[in-house]
Amino acid sequence: MSARHCDRHDPLGTDLDGVLTNEESGFDLKSLWCEEGRIVEEFVMEQPIPPYLFAFAVGELGFREVGPRTRVYSEAVDGVLDAAAREFAGTEEMIRQAESLFGEYEWERFDLLVLPPSFPYGGMENPRMVFLTPTVIKGDASGAQIVAHELAHSWTGNLITNKNNEHFWLNEGFTTYAERRIIEVVQGEDIAALTIGNGWRGLNEEVERFKDNMEYTKLKNNQEGVHPDEMYSRVPYEKGFQFLWRIEHQIGRPAFDEFLKKYIATFKFKSIDTGIFLDFLKANVHGIEKDIDLQLWTEGTGIPPDAHEPVSNLYIKITSLANDFKLGRIPREDEVASWKGQEWELYLKNLPRAVEPSQVLALDARYRLSESKDYDVKVGFLQLAISSRCRDYYGEVEKTLKEVGRMRYLRPLYSDLVQGPGNEEDKILAERVFAEARECYHPIAQGVIEAIFAKHV
Ligand SMILES: [Zn+2]
Repeated sequence: MSARHCDRHDPLGTDLDGVLTNEESGFDLKSLWCEEGRIVEEFVMEQPIPPYLFAFAVGELGFREVGPRTRVYSEAVDGVLDAAAREFAGTEEMIRQAESLFGEYEWERFDLLVLPPSFPYGGMENPRMVFLTPTVIKGDASGAQIVAHELAHSWTGNLITNKNNEHFWLNEGFTTYAERRIIEVVQGEDIAALTIGNGWRGLNEEVERFKDNMEYTKLKNNQEGVHPDEMYSRVPYEKGFQFLWRIEHQIGRPAFDEFLKKYIATFKFKSIDTGIFLDFLKANVHGIEKDIDLQLWTEGTGIPPDAHEPVSNLYIKITSLANDFKLGRIPREDEVASWKGQEWELYLKNLPRAVEPSQVLALDARYRLSESKDYDVKVGFLQLAISSRCRDYYGEVEKTLKEVGRMRYLRPLYSDLVQGPGNEEDKILAERVFAEARECYHPIAQGVIEAIFAKHV
């Protein structure tokens, strides 16, 4: 993780100018020597991990301390480090809260690395050093939600790992559940309910997207002959969350918390599948199979009838304001005064897919959503503009597609441009922008966008 000078006279682990020391790197550097003109380093990590969690980060990196076991690293450009340090100042508090919920943090360091904009995901839970998209820096500490997710993986995913990708929900459903429990403690019940609500909308959208391929809406699924990137979606996250939330509601939170701690302690540093989880659930929560149709939840398609939306005053207020928009009413300033990104995201997600272009312009004239620094808000608004064929914003759409490489934003923007009848102009725009921006995207993102074009163009 660092470049080191090649000098045989430097004692092992010496603090060399501008490079990380043994202690700083968070790894146990066992040896360092030069061999035939090459620098050879050996690092040792005691905890076992599956291969997909092994990653290199190579670059000219700086860092800021944000907690006793956390540093934020990034390329030292454009004030990113300072902004990231502010955004993630509450990380240690989150780790402590997570430990009280799920047991001791087993990985010693919890460092964060902010990557360049081409990183195709929100985050990647590499143990000891989480990788993050720069779009997570929103300026209001709400980006902590992704950090809560990657932190939760320290227990669910990294400690207990799915045996293979057909049981991916064991990683992501549990982690989404754990993330929201952390958010509930550090940001409050209302914000947790908003994230559940945004997830609920997302799950419904994914089930609609896969209506011709319902196999992809199962928690446990058959991926033989299927490229994992093709079926990657919010389903294992949000349907998995809903399943665990359903069990929590059935048996009550204290009993579920006790079950969760026992589950983590029993299977830590092991890989398991859905059957092993269900056997453990039935053995520890007697009679659960009579109250919840476990087979329907894990092997059925779509959303089971006993799944449910969150209920909170803030959630109801936002969704009802979104309903008012259908009647032409834009929220008043006092109604949105306390809104941050998550509130706007939920509001936008609950609007009709397409409205009159004049309504899009009126909403933006009042709240400048097209200029938001929070991409969840900005892209949610631009999607509304595209679906409503409000072409005043297509310049901003193009700019956005050329400055971020996170698939969470690329996928919906390209999809909305190319799908539906009578939008030849939009398809031509999408193809031109992709041709110009393609080289800046990660190969995984390139493949996903090519698949969108293959389906619709
Ligand atoms: Zn995850």
